[in-house]
Amino acid sequence: MLKNIFFDLDGTLIDPRIRLHSLFQELAPESEFSFDEYWKIKRQRINQKKILTKWFNYPEEKIHKFKRAWMEKVEEPHRLKQDILFGYTENVLASLSKKYDLYLVTARQFEDRVHSQLEDYNIKSFFKKILVTKQKGPKSELIKNNVSYYPGDIFIGDTGEDVMTAKELGIKTIAVYSGCLSKEILKEYNPDLIVKDVGVFYENSSL
Ligand SMILES: [Mg+2]
Repeated sequence: MLKNIFFDLDGTLIDPRIRLHSLFQELAPESEFSFDEYWKIKRQRINQKKILTKWFNYPEEKIHKFKRAWMEKVEEPHRLKQDILFGYTENVLASLSKKYDLYLVTARQFEDRVHSQLEDYNIKSFFKKILVTKQKGPKSELIKNNVSYYPGDIFIGDTGEDVMTAKELGIKTIAVYSGCLSKEILKEYNPDLIVKDVGVFYENSSL
């Protein structure tokens, strides 16, 4: 039986790609990647370290500096304003929250900024709890410590870590390719279902 639905935030409910591409351009000024070029590479699961080494010959220490600046800046409030709420998110959450307990589970660093972003989008009230790892541990740990979950529950996310989180908990795993990985890459993690996005998932489900 389904009682709880866990949602990842970035790439699942909102689109953070403009924020992430523009920060990359800012921190690696030698890059001339367009938005599409950058995401075509990233969606193949090529991480920043690989991009900085392979395309721009960054030495170890420059990569280190890039990473530190990235973490410092990536959740700055003015940057978060660049994010876009997917068109279907509000309706899907509104419908599902009538029948199930919804949880937001994100690896963001700053809890207060997650709350204000959700308030800005008017979607905060749909969630029973908002779980933020603050980069201090895995999502699975946070769920284990905060929620009574059941094998029929589902986790919806856009990364391999999200799929592994669900598997770790022994719940159903739904991968969406509206975010940071392609359909082909997500397949490698063997989720129970791969769909284009949360909107398509909801339309085709019996929930
Ligand atoms: Mg995500």
